[in-house]
Amino acid sequence: MNIFQVLYDEVIGFFGIGHVVEVVQSGDYSSLLTFDGILSVISPFIPFLLIIEITRAAVYKKFKIDDYRVPFFIFVANRFISRFIAIAMVAFCIGLFEKYAIFKTTFTWYWLIYGYIIWEFAHFIYHYLAHKVRILWCLHSTHHAPENMNLSVTYAHFFLEAPYADFIRTTICILLGVNAPLLFFIMFIDGTWGAFIHVGENIMKDARLGVLNRYILTPSHHRVHHAKNVEYMDTNFCNLLNIWDRVFGTLKPEQKELPIRYGVTRKINPRNFWDVYFGEIYYLARDVRHAPGIKNKFLYIIMPPGWSHTGDHKTARAEKKKLMEAQEVKQTVTAEDAVEAS
Ligand SMILES: [Zn+2]
Ligand SMILES: [Zn+2]
Repeated sequence: MNIFQVLYDEVIGFFGIGHVVEVVQSGDYSSLLTFDGILSVISPFIPFLLIIEITRAAVYKKFKIDDYRVPFFIFVANRFISRFIAIAMVAFCIGLFEKYAIFKTTFTWYWLIYGYIIWEFAHFIYHYLAHKVRILWCLHSTHHAPENMNLSVTYAHFFLEAPYADFIRTTICILLGVNAPLLFFIMFIDGTWGAFIHVGENIMKDARLGVLNRYILTPSHHRVHHAKNVEYMDTNFCNLLNIWDRVFGTLKPEQKELPIRYGVTRKINPRNFWDVYFGEIYYLARDVRHAPGIKNKFLYIIMPPGWSHTGDHKTARAEKKKLMEAQEVKQTVTAEDAVEAS
């Protein structure tokens, strides 16, 4: 196979336009009316939007190669391994757990609603644990490293994250009766929306999507999720429906007076592929090595990022508590000043 054929296949694969190309070449457009045909037209949406975003950034001279370079390297690194392991994981979980499903659903609109609510619940569990268990944060933090929001962030994931996410999500869905075709359909919607919520500010400045911001999880909510501001940390874990963020009290709308600072709180070089990809693993290994006793070593692995055996925690919860206490002190001082002045 020559190099041009490989490049051609990669480009077609990236844009997801293989089926459309076949249809155009054959001249038979009837398959576009089928379910698969419709999916084949929707699939290229995100890659094309990414190209528009980059083009717009270039035209307005805001294009910084650094914003895209590391996610691009990660995309290339993940291109083969991650995808195959994730697909194998989904198939494995379906095969293993289908017989234990509490009941069987069918491919109908009401089961779709049920299935989506269950899927979002499973997604919440995976995503919450990814932020609250240090070893899982090592897999997820690659996605949070970029310090600028754009569609290429969609592709920035550690290669073992998708298999882990799919293990949790598929298992919960299958056990709770979501059947395989329904699950694949939901995964497709989730994947497309999950990519779209990373749309850059140069395409969509205000990403609250009007009234929709009240009912679904918008790109604005997901920008908040990617923020390192203490006030925004560990919020908005859902993907399309925000019900579980409401149920668990983690829903946080964007506040105009609190501009988002993207990225992670540790010192990081977001332009360095190795730091973005393996940095968290390096720091976890270092903490485990220096921790006294086997219990502390183990706790570093399973406790939230920022946990310390000395008790001087820098977890999101501890940082929020410190911020609230500081604000209360400030308010008390201001109130006392006001009394003295009157
Ligand atoms: Zn996250
Ligand atoms: Zn994201």
